[in-house]
Amino acid sequence: HADIAMYRAKKLGRNNFQFYTPSMNEDAMERVRIEGALRNALERDEFVLHYQPQVDLATGEIVGMEALLRWQHPEMGMVAPSRFIGVAEETGLIVQIGAWVMRAACQQNQTWQDEGLGKLRVAVNLSARQFGAANLIADIRRVLAETGLAPACLEIELTESLFMSDVTLAVELLHGMKALGVNLSIDDFGTGYSSLSYLSRFPIDVLKIDRSFVAEITRDSNDAAIVASIIALAHNLKLAVIAEGVETEEQLDYLRRHGCDEMQGYYFSRPLPAEEFEQLVRQQRRLPLLDAMAPEILV
Ligand code: C2E
Ligand code: MG
Ligand code: MG
Ligand code: MG
Repeated sequence: HADIAMYRAKKLGRNNFQFYTPSMNEDAMERVRIEGALRNALERDEFVLHYQPQVDLATGEIVGMEALLRWQHPEMGMVAPSRFIGVAEETGLIVQIGAWVMRAACQQNQTWQDEGLGKLRVAVNLSARQFGAANLIADIRRVLAETGLAPACLEIELTESLFMSDVTLAVELLHGMKALGVNLSIDDFGTGYSSLSYLSRFPIDVLKIDRSFVAEITRDSNDAAIVASIIALAHNLKLAVIAEGVETEEQLDYLRRHGCDEMQGYYFSRPLPAEEFEQLVRQQRRLPLLDAMAPEILV
């Protein structure tokens, strides 16, 4: 059993190498349980999307949101993405789940636009398995056509790891997606191992600074320098830049002083169920939520 647990632990892949510990069997058991339950989750309608606002740092306005997957299991309760996305990727289930996410996010955004919530942009995370799957471009095109969402209102978040295995294929797929008119962003920017040269070869629109750098901005001068450099790099390449994981006013101030375009984080709002997100947008149209932003709004 120890061997099997070890083997599975290794198979978990990215950043997940672990030494065997007594809790290992429990972890392995949990994964088996999650894998079984995950197979039925789509038909049982157990997934839901939460939305986290993305805020324009110059105006303080909500300009978009990231759709984040939540799994409400009848017995296990709310299962966090960190507990099931890896399993979904390993088993390939992420391809169908990801297709559901794409459709649900576009549908919701179009519904909100129909209801007068404004022209918001929705960001959807794309996994490596989806990226490699056949028909990716055609599927996105169909979702846009069927939901009626303007391509400019969809942003696709990719991670650097997607580009590493087959650069030629990546260039082709990214240009294919770009040709649809959607926005492309690099999620968790700065944490991958890929070379910067892809930035000039790929049609990217946005860099999304990983929250591990943002977390230490005010305590670690190296992280502060990295964040300032990513913002400058993005702007020199004529890309937009958004910071994720903004939790404090100090972090917000630093990002604004360095010209970061947008931010996302608990300081402004946690990911919210659709109804609450909608309320937040309507509310902030009347009253800016961020005191720190009021002076600029008045300008
Ligand atoms: P991500 O795409 O980098 O998403 C940002 C994560 O940071 C979210 O965690 C979000 O709740 C969290 N976050 C946002 N603001 C803050 C903050 O101020 N402080 C802290 N500590 N955390 C913050 P979540 O929702 O648990 O998702 C985790 C990861 O799971 C995501 O990271 C993404 O890689 C993956 N994921 C989520 N939904 C999907 C999906 O629909 N498809 C795929 N392929 N992956 C998804
Ligand atoms: Mg993301
Ligand atoms: Mg991210
Ligand atoms: Mg991240």
